Amino acid sequence: MSNAGGTLYVVATPIGNRDDITLRAIDVLRRVDHIAAEDTRHSRPLLEHLDIQRPLIALHEHNENSATRRVLDLLAAGESVALISDAGTPLISDPGFPLVRASRALGHAVVPVPGPSALIAALSVAGLPTDRFRFEGFLPRRQPARLALFEALRRETATTVFYESSHRIVEALEDMRTVFGDARQLVLARELTKLHETVLAAPLAQVVVSVGDDPDQRRGEFVLLLAGAEDAGEQCQIAVDDLLRSLLEELPVKQAAALAARISGGRRNNLYRRALELAAAVSGSG
Ligand code: SAM
Repeated sequence: MSNAGGTLYVVATPIGNRDDITLRAIDVLRRVDHIAAEDTRHSRPLLEHLDIQRPLIALHEHNENSATRRVLDLLAAGESVALISDAGTPLISDPGFPLVRASRALGHAVVPVPGPSALIAALSVAGLPTDRFRFEGFLPRRQPARLALFEALRRETATTVFYESSHRIVEALEDMRTVFGDARQLVLARELTKLHETVLAAPLAQVVVSVGDDPDQRRGEFVLLLAGAEDAGEQCQIAVDDLLRSLLEELPVKQAAALAARISGGRRNNLYRRALELAAAVSGSG
């Protein structure tokens, strides 16, 4: 490959539909000296389909240290290597991080060849805010760790994205409902770019029932996207309004505002104004 000596290419491959491979990915895979693949048996059919015949090196989580050293030796000898995973973008819940870190530290060129990723594909169609999002990767397999993670995320205001396999999808959704409540919005993106692609968007209670009732909805690969909690300012306003409403049931506006100020630490004048609004709304609706 011209000027490619010592270069590591990090190449995204399809997450289902083979036509999602990019022209540049095909070109790079045809021209590198070696392809490091997560599972060579899995990648071979795709490479044969694309008429790519390059020497393959297995690089997966069980041999990552030794395979990384082997690829680093090739890069040091001026060879070019493309890193691919079974699906999507390498390093995104896939092997490759030690190799990329070491390659950069040793001064080799590391070049992205971007393309599909289930994370971005799911976000792009979920209809949830994407200005900020949090990616949590695979959910813990064991329930105590899963519940602890959800507890830690209860007040997260950004859209949060998880990967999950079909084995634990029902349990994961039930645990989410336990911690985040029936009403929190969830988007379940299943089998993206494949024949049975489904994007289900509903409150958690409804998603649990839909997936529990229909075995077809439990098959395949999943991205779960959880809507963020309402922002902290909104949560605070709701709590103060609830407090004022309760106090207004027993006390005149001025005393209710004074007591609310003492309890919440808020400014008395602001609470008085808000109490007047709430009292007016109550008398208006009665
Ligand atoms: N590197 C990949 C990427 O960029 O998306 C992710 C690899 S990770 C080992 C595999 C997980 O990604 C699956 O268990 C599932 O959660 C998600 N995933 C991969 N392909 C998917 C698809 N077509 N539809 C939905 N989720 C998918």
